[in-house]
Amino acid sequence: MITSRKDLEAHIHLTTGEARWFDSPSSLPLLISDHLAKLMEDREDDPIRRQFVPDIRECDTSCSIDPLAEVDHSVTSRLIHRYGHRAALLTTDRCFSYCRHCFRRRFTGTDTGAISDEEIDKAAAYLSRHDEIHELLLTGGDMFTLSNERLDRLFGILRQSREDLVLRLCTRAVASFPSRFDDELMDIIARHDHGGPFLLLTQFNHPGELTRESIDAVRRFLSLGIPAFNQSVLLRGVNDDVDTLEELCVKLLYNRIKPYYLFQCDLVQGTGHLRVPVERGLEIEQELRRRLSGLAMPQYTIDLPEGGGKVILTKDHLVAADGDELVFTTLDGDTRRYPRA
Ligand SMILES: *Cc1c(COP(=O)(O)O)cnc(C)c1O
Ligand code: SF4
Repeated sequence: MITSRKDLEAHIHLTTGEARWFDSPSSLPLLISDHLAKLMEDREDDPIRRQFVPDIRECDTSCSIDPLAEVDHSVTSRLIHRYGHRAALLTTDRCFSYCRHCFRRRFTGTDTGAISDEEIDKAAAYLSRHDEIHELLLTGGDMFTLSNERLDRLFGILRQSREDLVLRLCTRAVASFPSRFDDELMDIIARHDHGGPFLLLTQFNHPGELTRESIDAVRRFLSLGIPAFNQSVLLRGVNDDVDTLEELCVKLLYNRIKPYYLFQCDLVQGTGHLRVPVERGLEIEQELRRRLSGLAMPQYTIDLPEGGGKVILTKDHLVAADGDELVFTTLDGDTRRYPRA
């Protein structure tokens, strides 16, 4: 059982048979779980490998390290309150494996460490003064790198200060380290599953990540009545083609994981080689919308620079207003008119 960072590192080193913790060309550490390492093929264009093995192009420093201006929206050292009804708590900077496309490079893997008792109390105090916040994202880094004791304490204090909060459990670990979700951890989650619901927010970017082990890990949440939503990132050479995304979304929905967002890769330093142009993203979105059911379709979303926030990108079918009528295009490119009032 993993209960501390030390155990965790020992575990990863033991199971891989060698330390996969090296310096990488950028500030983001290189760490690849045994589970993911086994999914990768030893060729540069392998879609899983591209997400986790560093590339020299990460040294390109032409973009900002914090394009979302999260630092400006931080209300405690760990709490970001950018959108009125929801806030995000950075529970740790650690992950089980580091994604080269990470949008929070300013923070992830910087050895800031796990949230302290004092920082939990500070965030809880802010949340109890701000009852306009309905949803709290527990994120980082990956919250499930925290020890069971710390998670227990975190859930306890948050439930105590705001019983009504919806808690989003944001984790890549179901994809990168599914064995983390053992009976002991699931018992802790079940014990705190009262008041506002827990929601599971996963990140699967390629159908190859939906292994039996990962699906089983998600199923443990589902069996507690915790629904699952997936946030993918659109990545060059990983999932920037319609067939791959179609397969991913169909497979997600089949496994009761609702495709929620497909993010445009943020303008974060060191991620340029993984970014897909927005206009290409829009083409992909349009074709995907033809092929997928409404439930299987994620929202293509961009987090605008300089803290502009998230906006949804899709082809606008309302093309003109003509007197008393609005003019629409159909999916097949025909036009239709609809009265204004
Ligand atoms: C994305 C984000 C949220 C949640 O936004 P939703 O659109 O509700 O998923 C909340 N806080 C921050 C800082 C975010 O970046
Ligand atoms: S799991 Fe999330 S926080 Fe960690 S490296 Fe990947 S994108 Fe960044």
